[in-house]
Amino acid sequence: MSKWPSENDKEVWYDHKNKAWYNTEGEVCELHKSTEDDGTEYSFFTNQAYWDCECDEDYIHKKTEQKHCTKCDTFHEEQPDSRQHEIDAMFEKLKNRKYEYELFLSQGKDGKTFTVDVREDIIEFGDLIESDFIEKHSFNSYGQAENKLGQIVTELSSQKKTVHTTNEVKTLHTILGRKLIREEDELKQESNLWSVNLNTIFKNVLFDCTEDELEENVRTFVVSELGNLDWTYEKADVNVSKTMIRS
Ligand SMILES: [Zn+2]
Repeated sequence: MSKWPSENDKEVWYDHKNKAWYNTEGEVCELHKSTEDDGTEYSFFTNQAYWDCECDEDYIHKKTEQKHCTKCDTFHEEQPDSRQHEIDAMFEKLKNRKYEYELFLSQGKDGKTFTVDVREDIIEFGDLIESDFIEKHSFNSYGQAENKLGQIVTELSSQKKTVHTTNEVKTLHTILGRKLIREEDELKQESNLWSVNLNTIFKNVLFDCTEDELEENVRTFVVSELGNLDWTYEKADVNVSKTMIRS
């Protein structure tokens, strides 16, 4: 066995017995020689396990996983095998790819509709490379929208995804010092006593700041945690509940 000395291809080996090139995954590679426009000769390996479609981006596909690209409508039989150094670069890129989610709860101009939007940000090597709105849910009440927001946060958080939430309605009404638009929901429902269990893990938090900055920092922290707050509830037994908060 001899190692191919090219810098482009991380590790491709020649097996003299089988008279074939292999990469470290054991996939069969083929050696090609070509010439640049200025006459410089160069060589590269292709990998039989992968193929290139005609797309400008994300054009490398594994044959066992995808035989047809729906974006450019090409089939692997008609397309060339992928180059090994481009496959290596793709895996390096995927390793450094992160997905973050921005959730927005906003109120329609008519004041009657509430929308939850989910934006997916793809980050590679710390740079934002793609940002798309992937979900949109509309509701006729603030309460329903807030529930949906909570559901999506819980779901994404359980998949260990980074989630940021912006509740424009809550922010707006906190700033104006008004009550939340819950009255509409409350009219339809009877009032009950509820026992709410806040599953918060923060009991003792350290802040590194001056005393003057402390109040603002604590406020900011608590508000940011509220977006991710996990809680359960049941009908309350008034003899057991210690703290009563009336809305
Ligand atoms: Zn394609």
